[in-house]
Amino acid sequence: MEEKLASELQRRLRGVVKTREPLARHTSLRIGGPADYFVVPASVEDLLETLAFIREHGLPWLVLGNGTNVLFLDEGYRGVIIKLGPKLGTIQTLQNSVCAQAGASLAALVSHVRSLGLREFDFLVGIPGSVGGALVMNAGIPEGTVSDIVTRVKALTFDGKFITLKGDECQFGYRSSRFQHERLIVIEGEFALGRGRVWDGEELLRRRRERQPLGVPSPGCVFRNPVGVGATAGQLIDQAGLKGYRVGGARISPKHANFIVNEGGATSHDVLQLIDIARSVVLKYYGVELKLELAVVGTCGVQYSS
Ligand SMILES: Cc1cc2nc3c(=O)[nH]c(=O)nc-3n(C[C@H](O)[C@H](O)[C@H](O)COP(=O)(O)OP(=O)(O)OC[C@H]3O[C@@H](n4cnc5c(N)ncnc54)[C@H](O)[C@@H]3O)c2cc1C
Repeated sequence: MEEKLASELQRRLRGVVKTREPLARHTSLRIGGPADYFVVPASVEDLLETLAFIREHGLPWLVLGNGTNVLFLDEGYRGVIIKLGPKLGTIQTLQNSVCAQAGASLAALVSHVRSLGLREFDFLVGIPGSVGGALVMNAGIPEGTVSDIVTRVKALTFDGKFITLKGDECQFGYRSSRFQHERLIVIEGEFALGRGRVWDGEELLRRRRERQPLGVPSPGCVFRNPVGVGATAGQLIDQAGLKGYRVGGARISPKHANFIVNEGGATSHDVLQLIDIARSVVLKYYGVELKLELAVVGTCGVQYSS
């Protein structure tokens, strides 16, 4: 059945269609069982055709960027994962802005802007996501986020309609956006040049290397920092004595307590157990309910910030 539908879709696309693709290959945490269908569109037309196919067959679906803030289950995903990568990753300089497609990496965007002699996007240095993922998550650091530089976003509804939103119509919040709430697919973003602050990217990278467990599989920060508490999620987990705590192959990083790392052979259930432990201990000791920043994807859906 899967093979038959996959061949039907493949006939309609120029891009790649796979069945039973292990999602662990596509996430920075290196966890995740097989996706029934895994599509890498070669163009926006391919993406539209994939959405039409999904509507026709009533399948669950999810768009994936670089997979640096998601947890898939070991059971995998019973629907279509649409991976936006370099084929949808052009970056163009316009008059006073840069336009980048969703599949471009943030690293490529930063180096493009550096090649113009500008350091205004350097606050994004070291964030391993794609432009699409960064817009959906409003990625950034405490001193600045993507929402500070974006002027326009082109997105697609599940019905296949294009919409263009100005930066202030994207409802950006702390690691949140309208794209999450309305399940819009980000196609491209336009980012302003010449009005931003200049950053010291090397210093920010040094700070990152000092504080974060880089080089070990992880999904970045697991929890959002709570508001009005006077401590970050990592500090609360650390103060609760959980730094270094381990379940199976997963561990609360001894370097940064808001990172869960895969030290080898971790399952999604090890990670979910650690998440539950961190939440219940922090709630018990500090009365603070930690909310997820990580997108935990069920076998047929996606769940945000619960
Ligand atoms: C070592 C490390 C350090 C990190 N540091 C930071 C940091 O400093 N600041 C920060 O904000 N984040 C950080 N992150 C987290 C992560 O890199 C960001 O959240 C990034 O923006 C996610 O982009 P992505 O392409 O990997 O998205 P994915 O992980 O692929 O997806 C994230 C969510 O966005 C959705 N999505 C992705 N692309 C699209 C699209 N085009 N249209 C619609 N939905 C889409 C997915 O369905 C998913 O729900 C870090 C992660 C790691 C591993």
